[in-house]
Amino acid sequence: MAPRSDPRRPADVRPNTAGSLFQLLRDGQPRTRADLAAITGLARSTVAARIEDLLAAGLLAPTGEAASTGGRPPATFAFNPAARIVVAVDLGVSHARVAVTDLGGHVLAEDTFELAIADGPEPVLGRVVDVARALVREVGRPEADVVGMGVGLPGPVEHASGRPTSPPIMPGWDGYDVPGRLGEAFPIPILVDNDVNIMALGEHEAVWPDVDDLLYVKIATGIGAGIISDGTIQRGAQGAAGDLGHIAVPGGAEVPCRCGNFGCLEAIAGGPAVAAALREKGLEVASNAALVELVRSGNLEATLALRQAGREIGAVLATCVNLLNPSVIVIGGAVAEAGEHLLAGIREVVYTRSLPLATQHLRIVASRTAGRAGVLGAAAMVTQHVLSAEQINALVGD
Ligand SMILES: [Zn+2]
Repeated sequence: MAPRSDPRRPADVRPNTAGSLFQLLRDGQPRTRADLAAITGLARSTVAARIEDLLAAGLLAPTGEAASTGGRPPATFAFNPAARIVVAVDLGVSHARVAVTDLGGHVLAEDTFELAIADGPEPVLGRVVDVARALVREVGRPEADVVGMGVGLPGPVEHASGRPTSPPIMPGWDGYDVPGRLGEAFPIPILVDNDVNIMALGEHEAVWPDVDDLLYVKIATGIGAGIISDGTIQRGAQGAAGDLGHIAVPGGAEVPCRCGNFGCLEAIAGGPAVAAALREKGLEVASNAALVELVRSGNLEATLALRQAGREIGAVLATCVNLLNPSVIVIGGAVAEAGEHLLAGIREVVYTRSLPLATQHLRIVASRTAGRAGVLGAAAMVTQHVLSAEQINALVGD
């Protein structure tokens, strides 16, 4: 894994490098050399030399000509997202999604498949490598074009080293060198994070790029949140921030939880908890998908149970809203696919129990990335790193 930049230092203190010029062009807008000289205050000759470097690396592409103000019309250049590709991996407890994207986060090819994370890192990551290689072939690119790999795992991860830390449902993964194993196949920067963090990043990049404070809540077998505060993912000291599933529900039942505590949100309102409660009433609910299907088919008991689960989740989220003051809460995950009944329960309690000032402009919405939040976020995590000013300078030798 490539060394991370030091957050205490500005990423690039030299404003005249190819990397810093490239940051201006990340928005994809075509610009002329004169535009860039005017924006940066750099000499035209300096701008021209940096543009040549970025064109040679393929990171910029000519986009045509600007309107002439007399004489030969000036050429325009823009960021070329097709220059390289990224492998994005979203590993869940029982399923996986692997995608190849361009540098703009557009999915070029993807594959979803069943996979048991509990099988351990060797077989799981071996399968990921095989699928990634097949997808790179499918898009017709050489493996040398892969510039980075982003991976989300369903447990706490020490982001700096890419190693899972005491993941409760991932036997054999504790402290495992995920970047080291994947790096044997792809010798490129490999960035690893908790799956909910990358989902928050993906939903933010794809749907809410202008929102600085966003909470992404995944409701599936477990319940967790990715926190974006002031535009940045908040991981906490041990990568455990956002683990909503093991917060005690205020006034909740003393149900035992797999973490060893009682009354945790996950044990009361997670998919399996809701399914178990419905089974006691004689309903056949074998999985999260079956629960969603039952609610969608209009079953009253299942609908009421899910709405109540929403209220329990809302009781914990009301506290989070007072603490973090997000402007958007996105609800995603397998159980959230059941739709509005869950959201209604959440909204009911959050808007009643949070401070009026904190909910004044708060929106609580369903995920809009159709199951792709994880891979979109994994790709964004990679491009944020590899397209930074210092990485671009290293690439073009500036
Ligand atoms: Zn617990």
